[in-house]
This record gives sequence, C-alpha cells and structure tokens, in this order.
Amino acid sequence: MKKEELIYEKQTVYKKGTKAICDAAFAYAEGYKTYLDEGKTEREALKISIAMAEAKGFREYKLGDKINVGDKLYYNNRGKNLFVFSIGTEPITEGIRITAAHIDAPRIDLKQCPLYEDGGMGFFKTHYYGGIRKYQWVATPLALHGVIVTKRGEVIDVNIGEDDSDPVFYINDLLPHLAQEQSKLPMSEGIKGEQLNILIGSMPDGEDDSIKLNILRILNEKYGITEDDFLSSELCVVPASKARDIGFDRSMIGAYGHDDRVCAYPALTALLEAKDSKHTLMCILADKEETGSDGPVGMQSELMLDIINEIAFNLGANPAVVRANSKCLSADVSAAYDPNFPDVFEKRNTPLLACGAVFTKFTGSHGKSGTNDANAEFIGWLRGVLSNDDVIWQAGELGKVDCGGGGTVAKYISKHNIDTIDLGVPVLSMHAPYEVIAKVDLYETYRACLAFYKY
Ligand code: MN
Ligand code: MN
Repeated sequence: MKKEELIYEKQTVYKKGTKAICDAAFAYAEGYKTYLDEGKTEREALKISIAMAEAKGFREYKLGDKINVGDKLYYNNRGKNLFVFSIGTEPITEGIRITAAHIDAPRIDLKQCPLYEDGGMGFFKTHYYGGIRKYQWVATPLALHGVIVTKRGEVIDVNIGEDDSDPVFYINDLLPHLAQEQSKLPMSEGIKGEQLNILIGSMPDGEDDSIKLNILRILNEKYGITEDDFLSSELCVVPASKARDIGFDRSMIGAYGHDDRVCAYPALTALLEAKDSKHTLMCILADKEETGSDGPVGMQSELMLDIINEIAFNLGANPAVVRANSKCLSADVSAAYDPNFPDVFEKRNTPLLACGAVFTKFTGSHGKSGTNDANAEFIGWLRGVLSNDDVIWQAGELGKVDCGGGGTVAKYISKHNIDTIDLGVPVLSMHAPYEVIAKVDLYETYRACLAFYKY
C-alpha cells in the first residue's frame, strides 16, 4: 500500500480538491452573502428561505393537508422555524433524510419597556440573546430589526440601519483615559448586561423638552405606534455590517451570523437542488438554538414529530418505522483552530480552516456530558456516501477537553430514534459580531448535504 493510503491526514480543499471545485466554491459564496445580508434574524432568514423554496416549486403545507408522493412542501412555524420537505418515490418506511440547522444568532434584544432618557440622551434597555461576549458589542454601528404587533393585530416590520442612508445605533464604551478601574476587571465583567443600552437620540421635543417624547413622536409618525406597543414587540439589535470577502485572496467571508446560516444555506440549497432523489428529504431551519432550543419554534418542540407522523399516516406507514430508518445531519458550525489562541485547541482533533466540512461525533462538555455521540456505524455509512462524490471533510471537536464546550440540536433529534451527527463549517471568532469562514468549507458542506440527500 502507498503511504498516502495508509496515513490519514487533514488536507486543505485547495490541495485535495480540483480547481473546478474551488472556482465553484467562490461562485456559490456570492449567493450566500446575499442570504446573510437579507436574513439577519430568524424571521428574515425564514422569509428569504421560503422565497427560495417557492422559486423551486415548493408550496405551503398546513397540518392536516393531504400529502402525496412527489409533493414539494414547506411548513412555516410562526414565522421563525421552517420545515422544507419533498416526498420521494421509495417507500416512506425507508425513512427520511433530514438536515437541521438553526437560523437564530446571538444578538441583543430590546426589553418590553425599553425607552428612557438619561444625561441628555435617549436609550433602549436590552437583554442579550444567546452567548455573546458583551465587550464586543460596544462602540460599533448597530441596526434594529424585528416586528411590533399592535393590539389590533397589525404586524409592523422594522429594519433600520442596513441601508447606507439609514441612521445606525450604538452602545457607549468608556474612554481609555478613565478606564483604569474597568480595565482591571475580567473581560466577562468589563461590560455588564445592564450597560448594553442602545443610544437612539439626543434631541428634545420642542414643547416638552423631552428626548423620550421626541423619539416617540418620530416612531409614531413612521410606524403609527405608541409606547405601549413595545410590550408586544420583538426588536433585535444586530451589527449594521454587511458580509464581505476577507483577505487579499478573497478566500474567506466575514459576516454577522455565520453561526448557523453558514449551514442553513447549504442544507437548504442542496435540498432545493436535489432533483430526483428517491428519498424523502427534509430540511429544518430552527429558532432558539442559541438559548437552548426551547419553546414552540425550537428543536425541542413536538412539531417535528407531528410532521413526520402526518407524512407517515398519509402514506400508510407506521411513523415509528419511518423514524427508525431516518437519518439526520445536525448542520451546525464548529470552532476552527486559531493560531492566536492555540492553548484552547487540541490541534490533531480540531477542525482546520479550509480543510472541508466538519463531522463532530460528539459535542457536550466535561466528559461528553449532554451529547448525542453519533454511532460509529452511522459515521461509517456516511464516509461511504461522501466518498461517492469525493466530498472533502474532516473530523473535529470543539476545543480541548476541559476547556469548555457546547451543544447543538443533535440530541433533540436523535432522542426520537433517528441516527444523527453534527456536520458543518469551521468558524473563526464564533458568536462575535463579525465571524469568519472559508468559502471552500461552505461549499464542501453544501456538497456533503447533496451527497447525503442523494445516496
Ligand atoms: Mn450553532
Ligand atoms: Mn452558536
């Protein structure tokens, strides 16, 4: 046997793949950048995902509708969680090929009574969403996205700060001259949750000398709302940045919210491209992963079972058999090895940038606690599937043992007797307002999903 066959070594897509693959990766990344810019919240990502599905002939499904072989359907769960699925020609008892990614991302949400003024400035009070490092969100331009629902049921979409002519928002930080005491604090305490107040104005109302009143007048003029309408709003503060190429060679993309749209986009586009798969396919885009997958739009909801049950019953099958034969890729990101912080990574088992899609057998922390831990048999099967199309992939783990850890939706799917493994894209600066990925890793994740749906 040749040495290369005997030894397993991670290699970059540039070395292992063809030039055509690398060129295709760069072209594919253009559509992804648009997806990022137009979908900064789960609501917006869902909207653009539905538009993509409808353009490929998928139509809306409601629970209770008839389901037939050949149907291409999507289920919109409360505008935040999407199921896109197509019914294949093989018996449904062969199972469903499922991919599950999440379309929420760490950010800063407004509180329900957010508006106040202090020190000659108007502010919004906030409560952050997901695992952010608070010091990263100060002194940088921010945009406001979300909905306000009036008591008449009217839904008002808000999106300010993305257009170049829009104003942006801001969180104040301390000047270094006066930060002597703050600079001594641990990084997790330098900026506290209640200091993440959004600067939104400084001009008083003509009659009343109130900045708060002036802001309310502006909001009333623009949206027809009054202060109590914030009570039934979901307003999110996100970085006002756009997705951009990074590096002289343009090989990477910097953007807000790669985690986990960098997996949602390939999982969805691969399903929409998977023309004549005989398998029944499903792509789930979930909300609330960053806060524990709770609630009706998170992966712990019973909805996935309801939809699988409906598919099984409509096609005359036992749903338990359908689930037992289903397979799932939990499409989520992993942390790429970062030479600036080598101490937290174990280089042999950490995903390397540009070495392809990452399979994470187990997540969790402190002795694999809270993990799905995919079966070796399932991984063996997947290796065979991916090798059919020469997909370039690597095995990876999130950082060193004892350094921390994290979880994904994998365990909420596998508990329903569905073989599941985490697959995704390695990310630099995960959960930062601007994260980085390599275009070739995005593309190999897309090709991995294509092969998974196909074979
Ligand atoms: Mn994630
Ligand atoms: Mn995350």
